[in-house]
Amino acid sequence: MDYGPAPEASGEVMGWLKSRKTFGHYVGGEFTKPGKTFDASNPATGERLAKVAQGSAKDVAGAVKAARSALPAWSKLPGHERAKWLYAIARHIQKRDRFLSVLDTLDNGKPIRESRDIDVPLVARHFYHHAGWAEMLDDEFPSAKPVGVCGQIIPWNFPLLMLAWKIAPALAAGNTVVLKPAEYTPLTALAFAEICAEIGLPKGVINIVTGDGETGAALVAAEVDKIAFTGSTEVGRAIRTATAGTGKKLTLELGGKSPFVVFADADVDGAVEGVVDAIWFNQGQVCCAGSRILVQEGIVQTFTKRLHARLSKLRVGDPLDKCTDVGSLVDPVQLARVRELVAKGEEQGAVLHQAECRLPSKGSFFAPGFFTNVHPANIVSEVEIFGPVATLTTFRTPDEAVELANNTRYGLAASVWSENINLALDVASKVKAGVVWVNATNLFDAAAGFGGYRESGFGREGGREGMREYLADPSPRAKPEPEPG
Ligand code: NAD
Repeated sequence: MDYGPAPEASGEVMGWLKSRKTFGHYVGGEFTKPGKTFDASNPATGERLAKVAQGSAKDVAGAVKAARSALPAWSKLPGHERAKWLYAIARHIQKRDRFLSVLDTLDNGKPIRESRDIDVPLVARHFYHHAGWAEMLDDEFPSAKPVGVCGQIIPWNFPLLMLAWKIAPALAAGNTVVLKPAEYTPLTALAFAEICAEIGLPKGVINIVTGDGETGAALVAAEVDKIAFTGSTEVGRAIRTATAGTGKKLTLELGGKSPFVVFADADVDGAVEGVVDAIWFNQGQVCCAGSRILVQEGIVQTFTKRLHARLSKLRVGDPLDKCTDVGSLVDPVQLARVRELVAKGEEQGAVLHQAECRLPSKGSFFAPGFFTNVHPANIVSEVEIFGPVATLTTFRTPDEAVELANNTRYGLAASVWSENINLALDVASKVKAGVVWVNATNLFDAAAGFGGYRESGFGREGGREGMREYLADPSPRAKPEPEPG
């Protein structure tokens, strides 16, 4: 079945970029005149796609002002009226799905199969789901008020999906928003802003300010009521310090080094396929990537052999080709970081098994792989590589598996593979992670809360828990007293 990216969608995107050339910020329902700019580039080719405004503290203050002016009317709308806007956004995302998938792939380097079949459908799902929450809000959280103006800062690994995770619950709860996309991937947020303008969303409800870490820091310091941040643990820590004592509500979704535990009785082929999703999906640039594969000793030879065979079949290359499994990393800076960490891992004695593929001559490509012979003190055992490389080590008993799985400063996600459901559930309950998948990995749904422990951050996104993060007094409706007698 040929349902790949329509070439005309690429043409349409290139035409759109050509007609815009330089993007301003989206503030109060209009695009501002850009001053200082930076380049948005295609990491698979190095070509410039557009120029994008570099936001100053003044730009941020203007956007916050617009969000503040829009707040009273938006927060007073009955929930079912806000729901209509969220449904309208969801429908427009679906209408423009080809366009948005191609744009996400061009800006980020991720395979079109993923942006088309995973990112963009999940974005629409997120807005539909939260339209439902807007409708039910008064019933589910009767005394709750919105937090106010929310400053939202997102990373580049799922540019449009992270935007949806932030904006959909904020709007459903009656907040207004200033969002800053990552500097590597600002374009889908700007296309999203155009959708908001097109459907006539009240001005100032959503504002997009583009720029780098300085713009992000200005947003953290601005007169906002909440900061919702997804990104690195280092920046998360700085934001926590900057917001301490300010009364701003804060949620942090940070990094991870998630265990992928395979017991001897697991379906080996299923688990090997799981590794493909866990660490090679999105070039391993996934906060909850299963980057530490732990295999029970009895099956390690079989498992490693089959993993090797599967690795050699991965198709690495042009992200716009619908057959591609592994595309380009997001930027030469990230490529250099991954190369350096992998080289250090090898220097420290780990053995790298890498796909023997011919990489495109241009772009930020890195051949996927995994390490064996990894000492616990090796840098790659501890540090989040954020690239398509996992470590593979062994364990003997379930207790040892739990101990190794928990031997990390993070606690975002985990995956447990076994045909013995009692064993799998027992281990799952002992692993300290915000999400634990059994015989699966990287499954996301708008209805399920996602978030971490320890250095992976705090707060949840998605579902009921995610809604609470955008409400000032989120105590749910009290359960009715049981009838006497
Ligand atoms: P990053 O922390 O460098 O940047 C994230 C965002 O923060 C960007 O928009 C950036 O411009 C902004 N920023 C940078 N410095 C800032 C500052 N001082 N103040 C305010 N904002 C600032 O992270 P990254 O490299 O873009 O993303 C990769 C990291 O994000 C990884 O560690 C990954 O695990 C994590 N991540 C976590 C989740 C999650 O849900 N837990 C999801 C995706 C990515």
